[in-house]
Amino acid sequence: MKLKQIIEKLENISSPFFQETYDNCGLLIGNEAWDCSGILCTLDVTEEVVKEAIKNNCNFIVTHHPIIFNSIKKINYHNYIEKCITLAIKNDIAIYAIHTNLDNIITGVNDVIAQKLNLINKRILLPKTDTLKKLFTFVPIAYADKIKSALFDAGAGNIGNYSECSFGVEGIGTFKANTAANPYIGEIGKQQEEKELKIEVIFPTYLEKNIVNTLLKVHPYEEVAYDIIELNNTNNAVGSGLIGELPEAKDEQLFLHQIKAAFGLQVIKHTELLYKKVKKVAICGGAGSFLIKKALAAEADFFITSDIKYHEFFDAESKMVIADIGHWESEQFTPNLLVEILRVNFPTFAVLKSNVHTNPVRYFI
Ligand SMILES: [Zn+2]
Repeated sequence: MKLKQIIEKLENISSPFFQETYDNCGLLIGNEAWDCSGILCTLDVTEEVVKEAIKNNCNFIVTHHPIIFNSIKKINYHNYIEKCITLAIKNDIAIYAIHTNLDNIITGVNDVIAQKLNLINKRILLPKTDTLKKLFTFVPIAYADKIKSALFDAGAGNIGNYSECSFGVEGIGTFKANTAANPYIGEIGKQQEEKELKIEVIFPTYLEKNIVNTLLKVHPYEEVAYDIIELNNTNNAVGSGLIGELPEAKDEQLFLHQIKAAFGLQVIKHTELLYKKVKKVAICGGAGSFLIKKALAAEADFFITSDIKYHEFFDAESKMVIADIGHWESEQFTPNLLVEILRVNFPTFAVLKSNVHTNPVRYFI
């Protein structure tokens, strides 16, 4: 199997289009045309992880955190990044990063955390607004079903838990073919009136090329009339953080114990307890201080995240408990999610989870 096939599957689930602007997702080292001997999933790439991949005959590392993040102007084998890159290239190991795009899908990093806490009624905390477009097209009635189902197959028409969503209205289209045309219907130089269905479907922006190509392929007209517009709608399936509810409200201390057990923590850094029941819980795997205000606005009782700075703890404003559980700790189950995605899609292929403990932070208790 080629890396390309595996990458296509990953990007079908979590498009690089959903990554944050500062991020560097995608194939960082290697070539899509390479044959894949095995896949190793990890949270971080370290030299030990690359060695583990070599030892297990996995020439493809799928990592959450990109090993190449900031610009690199020299590779002098000085720091761990340069050493990892060199080791990977010397051994023909490809490295693919699936980072904030996996954070930003509703079934991604944060959902894994939510599952560990048994949260229900989950939704994205800060949905994205620039990820959807709409297609309007005008089709002869006899072709309407064929075109609609082709567009649905190409990824159009999904709204929340509903698929195959479209709207159609019948009308009369007019057109006049010039002498260079080869019209599917009507005569050269004579205005033709045709009963058509105007179909409208929503689609994720990143699928635009695919959607338009599909339309052009199945539509019978020589010149296909269509309009594409950008939407300001929020995309409730894509965005930062997640908020959900505990099945039953519980005391803060009890909930802290639950978090500790679920994530195997030695310690939780948190703001003052408010001595009220915990029901609504906001989460953000990795650094989540940018969502404190969103979590407050959503009336979360707890916000579980990591990398909170001293002054940012004050932003809890005695209205919510911020619990900093550690960056690695919050995302430690992400490689399991990657393994699961890959094993489901490539059941006969070798997909391993790294056994290297990559957390650079230690606690002296
Ligand atoms: Zn992270």
